[in-house]
Amino acid sequence: MNTALLTLFAGTLNVWAFLLIAEYQIGFLNWIEIPFVAAALLASLLWDAWIYAWHRLNQRTPFFWRFHQVHHSDVQMDLSTALRFHPGEILLSSLANIVVFTALGIALEYMILYKVVFNLNVLFHHSNVAIPEKWDRILRLFLVSPNMHRVHHSRRMRETNSNYSSVLSVWDRLFGTYRESETDRIVFGLEYDRTVEAQSLVQLMKRPFIRRNDPPREGDSTD
Ligand SMILES: [Zn+2]
Ligand SMILES: [Zn+2]
Repeated sequence: MNTALLTLFAGTLNVWAFLLIAEYQIGFLNWIEIPFVAAALLASLLWDAWIYAWHRLNQRTPFFWRFHQVHHSDVQMDLSTALRFHPGEILLSSLANIVVFTALGIALEYMILYKVVFNLNVLFHHSNVAIPEKWDRILRLFLVSPNMHRVHHSRRMRETNSNYSSVLSVWDRLFGTYRESETDRIVFGLEYDRTVEAQSLVQLMKRPFIRRNDPPREGDSTD
């Protein structure tokens, strides 16, 4: 469903926006003269910071959380969790993304380079691969590692409200939302709607429009 939405709706709009950016030299990165490699790195850094901010907004705003909670509803975290998003969130983020990448003047080739790294890392840090904690610790000095993102999918709300970064871990460290935990004892999912029935496709689609839609707050946890 999300692939169809991304391809037909977001893809079409994105291509149109990227063509306009290139033709009219719109946005911040088109106003400065820097070499390709430096521009690609700067574009990736700016975009990664935006993804952090957008994720945090999705988590802290009641309206956006209605949709984003579907990503957190998975009680067994694995690679498929990386694909579990409500189409409403895909739609909202596609629209917000177009505005931001146009303002930043990110060219299509920079976005493709970033997306290759982004998709690989997002699939990897949602997977249930077991890597030793000492290797994970080294990895998360730079990138969002599996153990780092597992904390974000914890049932404990104060852990859910941390580790928002997607590729570079620096944003959480910079903005004070970095948190470590013993990943062996993390229970994945939300405090509510943990039954098999609540995990059906129909229920997940309905979830933004039904009860218990407040975003998680500090102190909500039962632990
Ligand atoms: Zn989240
Ligand atoms: Zn996630």
